[in-house]
Amino acid sequence: MLQLPVYLDNNATTPCDPRVVAAMLPYFTEVYGNAASRSHPFGWAAEEAVDYAREQVAKLIGAEPKEIVFTSGATEAVNLAIKGVYEMYAGKGQHIITAVTEHKAVLDTCKHLEKQGAHVTWLPVNRDGEIDLAELEAAITPQTILISIMYANNEIGVIQPIRAISDIARKHGVLFMTDATQAVGKIPVDVNTDGIDLLTLSAHKMYGPKGIGALYVRRRSPRVKLTAQIDGGGHERGMRSGTLNVPGIVGLGKACELCQAEMTADTARITPMRDHLEKALLELEQSYVNGSISHRLPHTTNLSFKYVEGEALMMGFNKNIALSTGSACTSASLEPSYVLKALGLSDDLAHASLRFGLGRFTTDEQIDYAIQTITDAVNKLRSMSPIWEMYKDGVDLDTIA
Ligand SMILES: *Cc1c(COP(=O)(O)O)cnc(C)c1O
Repeated sequence: MLQLPVYLDNNATTPCDPRVVAAMLPYFTEVYGNAASRSHPFGWAAEEAVDYAREQVAKLIGAEPKEIVFTSGATEAVNLAIKGVYEMYAGKGQHIITAVTEHKAVLDTCKHLEKQGAHVTWLPVNRDGEIDLAELEAAITPQTILISIMYANNEIGVIQPIRAISDIARKHGVLFMTDATQAVGKIPVDVNTDGIDLLTLSAHKMYGPKGIGALYVRRRSPRVKLTAQIDGGGHERGMRSGTLNVPGIVGLGKACELCQAEMTADTARITPMRDHLEKALLELEQSYVNGSISHRLPHTTNLSFKYVEGEALMMGFNKNIALSTGSACTSASLEPSYVLKALGLSDDLAHASLRFGLGRFTTDEQIDYAIQTITDAVNKLRSMSPIWEMYKDGVDLDTIA
C-alpha cells in the first residue's frame, strides 16, 4: 500500500538511513565520552570512533583522514573555507571568483566579504546552467586567491565541468574550492583526480543526520592553510574548535560508507525512475526540463509547466507530495528562483517549475502516484485558466502584455 505523503524533496534533505541511526545510538548512552578527553577510556573510545569516521569520510572522496575537518554542516564548512582562505591569503590578493547559481551559503559568504573589501567576480551560466570556462580563465588576475564553483546544483542538479575548472585553477596557481554537498555520495567524487583543494559536504544530504558535515582541506601540493573562524580549544587541528559531535560524526561516517558501497546500485535504480517521471510529465504540452540533461545528478529533475502557477499547482497536492517549487517564498514576496532566472527563464516559467529530488527510499509506486497526481493537477489548472484558453486559441501570449 502506498503511504502518503510521498517524499520527493531529497535535495532539501534526506531521511536518515536506519543503519546510520543504529550506528549512532551507542554514542549517546554508552560511548558518551568527550573525544578530547585523553585521560580515560570514555574519551579514548570516543576518539577512536571519530578517527574511524574520519577514515570513512576521507575514503569516499579519495582524501587522507587528516584532511577532513568536521563542522556543523556544509554552511559552516563553506564559511570556514571561503573566509578562512580570504583571511589567510590576504597578502596575495582579495579576488574571489564564483558563480551566480551557487547555494546561498556561498553567495552570502562572498557578499559578506565583498562588504569587507573583497573583489568578487560572479560568473553567469548558460541556458544549461554551466559556467563558461573561457570566461572563468579570463576573470583570473594576479590577485585571485580562490575559485569557488559548486560540484552539482541543488535546484537543477547540473554538474559543472569540475576537472576543467581545476585545470584552469592549477595553471594559474589559484586555490579551487567546490561545494560538493549535493554530489558527494551520489556520484563519484575524488579530490585528487578532480583537482580539488577545498570541498564541503553535509551528512543530511546523504542519508545521515542533520547538523554535521565536513570540510576537506588539501594538505599536499598545495598545502592549504586557513584562518580559523571559531576559536577555543584548538580542536580539528586548530581549524574548528568546539567539542566534537561524536554521534553525528559516527553517523556521517556510516552514511559515507553506505554511499560508497551502494552508490552504483542506488544510481542504477533511481535514474530509470527519474527518467520515467520526467518522460511522463513531459507528455504534458508546454513542459520543459530546466538545465542540462546530459550533465546532471541521477536523482534530480526540474520541470516547468508553462501557463501554470507553481504555487497554485503545489496547493493542489502538497498534502500528498512533498517537493519544492521554483520560488523562494519569503514572508513578504514570492521571488522566482535565482537559479532558474540565471538560466534565462522568464519569471513566469520560473514560477511554473517543480524540483523533484528522488532518493534511496523512493519507490516505483510513489513515482506512478506522482505522475498521475501532477498530470491531473496541471490539466485541471489549465482547464480553468483563461491564459491557457488563449494559448489554445492560437493567441501569441509572448507578444501581449
Ligand atoms: C544543503 C546545501 C548546503 C547547506 O548544507 P547544510 O549542511 O544544511 O548547512 C550547501 N550547499 C548545497 C549545494 C546544499 O545543497
